[in-house]
Amino acid sequence: MFFKSSKINEFRLWGLLLTMLGMGLMVLGTAGVVFWGQSGKVVAGIGLVIGLIAMLGSLAIYFIAGMLSTSAVQLECPECHKLTKMLGKTDRCMFCKTMLTLDPDRANITAEQLQQQKTAAAPSAET
Ligand SMILES: [Zn+2]
Repeated sequence: MFFKSSKINEFRLWGLLLTMLGMGLMVLGTAGVVFWGQSGKVVAGIGLVIGLIAMLGSLAIYFIAGMLSTSAVQLECPECHKLTKMLGKTDRCMFCKTMLTLDPDRANITAEQLQQQKTAAAPSAET
């Protein structure tokens, strides 16, 4: 995990980055012809090929992300009470980035304990 975000969001981010990279390379490659003339055509060719591979890679990532999100567990985040999706046993909430886990051994606090803490800290909010 490179970023502090949920796995589904990270997949989307990488897909987007690869698409941008691919398009950028294609544009740069085409621009190479304008700037360097005949010798720029080689650069253009390489840029187009790498750009195309990057675009195909992003397509694959989007596809995998789509497949994964169908098998993701949907649950209500105990921290921000929004409906989020989890991949695997441990993932971050898509909205508040709280670490969530389905494995009781790895959890240091349960949803019930969190609720108790909140009600204990602010009893007037619970009416
Ligand atoms: Zn949350």
